[in-house]
Amino acid sequence: MYRSFNLMGYRVTGSKCLTICLGFTFIMGCFLASLPIIPSEPTNHQISSTTYSKKKLAIIVPFRDRFEELLEFVPHMYKFLNKQNILFHIFIIQQKDNNRFNRASLINVGFIYTKKDYDYIAMHDVDLLPMNNNLKYGYPKNGPYHISSPQTHPKYHYDTFIGGILLIKQEEFDLVNGMSNNYWGWGLEDDEFYVRLKDAKLKVLRPENITTGPDNTFRHIHDKTYRKRDTRKCFNQREITRHRDRVTGVHDVAYKIHSTHNVSIDSLQITVINVELICNKTATPWCQCPEPPKVKKVK
Ligand code: UDP
Ligand code: MN
Repeated sequence: MYRSFNLMGYRVTGSKCLTICLGFTFIMGCFLASLPIIPSEPTNHQISSTTYSKKKLAIIVPFRDRFEELLEFVPHMYKFLNKQNILFHIFIIQQKDNNRFNRASLINVGFIYTKKDYDYIAMHDVDLLPMNNNLKYGYPKNGPYHISSPQTHPKYHYDTFIGGILLIKQEEFDLVNGMSNNYWGWGLEDDEFYVRLKDAKLKVLRPENITTGPDNTFRHIHDKTYRKRDTRKCFNQREITRHRDRVTGVHDVAYKIHSTHNVSIDSLQITVINVELICNKTATPWCQCPEPPKVKKVK
């Protein structure tokens, strides 16, 4: 059927209309293509830089019962990392169960939670505050980067020490199956992780040209009488945890996330994740050490 109509006083036929429409579409296309691309703002997390192409850092803090330290940690880290223009967010992985503290499993959970949105993680103790601005938290493109080196850590000085603060790419953490889940209670999980990296031929790099030493590179806000380390050993814990674990890791960490909270400390946003770690009591009965029987005093 042949149709024509009036457009602003002009008599327009079907074929003229098609030409006008195509012309209009072309001009609009050229106009839109010439506009700059504006990246969408990151939502939810408070991020400290405007360069959105930069790599994103998830700070993973294994945590239980360290609230006073957290109140110091968060403002300190914001101030320290903003000076370096690091794009970061802090995730507090809080253990909410009756088992002994398991730093490595909490780090595994933090990794799983953040891996979709972040490029690298910092496994970060809540009580170790970096003080030297030459400690750089940028993307560790050449391999795992141990910020709290044995030369500068306030307490641990052996060569293979990689505890405290370690930066690692998501792919590398995944490649070594994360950390072992066997370490309930204090100690050795970081040494076992060192062996995982070594077996995968991932060389640990450390800051160079640091002129400060063990007394002034970090502040270790850890009062050892008030924050006691859980060094108990029970069942066959000592024997098993002396060895490299080739079975457990990030791929089989058993847990439930009970809740997540966006929390502000001095208006600085962090995310707290409440995690229940599930213990396989056949494999690792030492996730709860029996209380020693009370000895009655003989008068
Ligand atoms: N941690 C915790 N609650 C605990 C034990 C440890 O939150 O009951 C976390 C906290 O982040 C701490 C880290 O695990 O900084 C390492 O533990 P700790 O400070 O006892 O070890 P250190 O390196 O001082 O020997
Ligand atoms: Mn400590």
